[in-house]
Amino acid sequence: MPKEERPIIRTTAGNPVCDNQNSLTAGPRGPVVLEDHYLIEKLAHQNRERIPERTVHAKGWGAHGTLTITHDISKYTKAKVLQPGATCPMIARFSTVAGELGAADAERDVHGFALKFYTEDGNWDMTGNNTPVFFVRDPLKFPDFIHTQKRHPRTNLRSPTAMWDFWSLSPESLHQVTILMSDRGIPQAPMYMNGYSSHTYSLINAKNERIWVKMHFKTCQGHKFYTNAESMEVIGKSRESFQEALFGGIERGEYPKWKFQIQVMTDEQAEKFIFNPFDLTKVWPHADFPMIDVGILELNRNVDNYFSEIENLAFSPSNIVPGIGYSPDKMLQARIFSYADAHRYRLGTHYESIPVNRPKCPVYNYHKDGAMRTFRNDPGNPDCYYEPNSFNGPVEDPTCKEPPLKLDGYVDRYNHRDGNDDYTQPGNLFRIFSAQEKQNLFNNIADAMHGVPKEIIERQLVHFTKADPAYGEGARKALIAKGVLK
Ligand code: NDP
Repeated sequence: MPKEERPIIRTTAGNPVCDNQNSLTAGPRGPVVLEDHYLIEKLAHQNRERIPERTVHAKGWGAHGTLTITHDISKYTKAKVLQPGATCPMIARFSTVAGELGAADAERDVHGFALKFYTEDGNWDMTGNNTPVFFVRDPLKFPDFIHTQKRHPRTNLRSPTAMWDFWSLSPESLHQVTILMSDRGIPQAPMYMNGYSSHTYSLINAKNERIWVKMHFKTCQGHKFYTNAESMEVIGKSRESFQEALFGGIERGEYPKWKFQIQVMTDEQAEKFIFNPFDLTKVWPHADFPMIDVGILELNRNVDNYFSEIENLAFSPSNIVPGIGYSPDKMLQARIFSYADAHRYRLGTHYESIPVNRPKCPVYNYHKDGAMRTFRNDPGNPDCYYEPNSFNGPVEDPTCKEPPLKLDGYVDRYNHRDGNDDYTQPGNLFRIFSAQEKQNLFNNIADAMHGVPKEIIERQLVHFTKADPAYGEGARKALIAKGVLK
C-alpha cells in the first residue's frame, strides 16, 4: 500500500502522531522533555501489557468452531442448543495445568478442554479436561494439590517430592495419576485427545424432569501421544508444538472434530450405583451406562488475535442454559464459585462483556457501574435501574427454574475417604492396558520419581499394588532398573 494510503498513528485520544522515531529532547543529545506525552503513553502502555496469568491452565491454545446436534436427546433435555439439527457457534481453549504462560507445550500434564457455546439462551461453558476424573474429590484439597504442581518456595523449581508426597497421602488421586502417567499423559496436540465434562451435570427436559449426565468429546483424529523421549526431542526443537499443530492445521483447512456423546443415570440408578456418582475421582462404566450419540464438534476458524480472543477468554462452569443443570459434585460446586471469581480478578468485574466472552443474546440485569463499565447500565430506559419498577424493566423468567433437588442428612464435615474404594477403577484401567502400555506406565512413573525420598516412593507403591499387584511390581522393577530405587 502506498505510504499516503496507510492509516496514521494516533495517540489513544486520537491525535495524530508526527514522529514515532525520535523522542522530544532538549538538544540532539537529550535530555528528554516531560512534554513528550506520547513517549510517556507508549512506555506506560508497555508497563501494562501483561494481565495476571491464570493461576492454573496458563498455557493455552484455541480456535472457533461449531457444535452440530445429529441425534435426538430431547427426552432428556429441553436445552435449545442440544435439540436435533441445532448448530451453535463456539470457541475452544485447550491448556496444560501446571506450566506458566511460557511453558513448553508437549509436557506431561492433565490438559484443559474448555468449550464455550454461544447459545440463544446465553453462554454454556463446558470446562472439562482430557481426563474423565480428577486428583481430588474435595475442593478443600484443591489449592494444596495445585501447590504441589507449582514451584517450590525456596528452589523455585517444580518438586517431584511434593507431587508424590501429596499423591501418596491422597489415595483418591491414584486414578488420575494412572491416566497422567499412561501414554495419554502427553498428547501430540489438542486434536489427538478426548474431552470430558469429568463432573456429573444434569439434563432437564420439557417436563422439568432431571437426569444425571456425563459428557464426552471423543477425538475423530485418533489418540496420538509422545513418549517421554519423543517429547524431550519435540520440546528441544519447539516449545510451541501444540500451537503450531492446531493453528497450522486449521489454516490448511484440516478441521479437527470430536464426537459428542453422553452417559445418563437416573435417580434410582444413582441410589444403587456402587460409587457416589458425584465423586470426581470415579467414572461411570460404559457397560452399565452406555454412550449415547449427540453430535459433532468441529473447530474451523483460527482467532484473529490471540490476546483478545484466547487470553481474554473466560470460562466458568456456572454458565449453563435452561435444560442443563449442576449436580451435588463437591468439586463442581467449588468451581462454580472459583472460576468466575478468578476472572473477576484476572480480567475485571465486567469480563463477560469482553467481546469473546459476550453472550450473543441481549443481556439485561440490574448490576451497575464499576471499572470499565463501557456499556449502558440500563436496558435502554434510564428509569430501569432497580427492580421491581413500574417502567417495563426486565423481569425474571420462572420457566427456567430447575426441579427441586431432594437432599437429606446433617451438615457436617464428612470424611470423604471413609469406606471409599480408590483402587478398583484405577485397577480396571491398568488391566485394559496392553503389555506395552503397562511397561510405558511403569517407565513414566519411574522417570517422574527421580529424587523422591524412598519412604514416599514406598508409600505410593502400596497404592499401585492395591490397584493391581502387577501394577506395584512393574513400577518397582522400573524404579530399580532406572536407579531411582535401590
Ligand atoms: P471400557 O473398556 O468400556 O472403557 C475403557 C476406556 O478407557 C475407554 O473409554 C478408553 O478410551 C479409555 N482409555 C484407554 N486408555 C486410556 C488411558 N491411557 N487413559 C485414560 N483412558 C484410557 O471400560 P469402563 O467404562 O469399565 O472403564 C474402565 C476404565 O477405563 C475406568 O476405570 C477408567 O479408568 C477408564 N475410562 C473410563 C471411562 C468411562 O467413562 N467409563 C472414560 C475414560 C476412561 P477410548 O474410548 O478413547 O479408547
